[in-house]
Amino acid sequence: MATQICPNCKVDSFNWKVDEEESPLTIWDCGNCNYRAFENESDEQNCSKCGKKTESKLKDDKKEYWWCSNCNTTEIIKTAPNNVYKK
Ligand SMILES: [Zn+2]
Ligand SMILES: [Zn+2]
Repeated sequence: MATQICPNCKVDSFNWKVDEEESPLTIWDCGNCNYRAFENESDEQNCSKCGKKTESKLKDDKKEYWWCSNCNTTEIIKTAPNNVYKK
């Protein structure tokens, strides 16, 4: 599968996987900076920049944001330290 640009370090080594034991959400891992984020696949929208429906909602331990895998735009939704994601 193709890697994406990591929103954290901007290197093309961002990869997703599904591991039901770790999380019900899609897990994104960066092979370069070890950044990890979770994607809720039910949250998808058209990117405000490129217009494609490739913008997903990602969440890491510090923030939640929209990330477009096509043009690599990120838009912070909220920052919430210690906020546990509930589906
Ligand atoms: Zn990275
Ligand atoms: Zn876009």
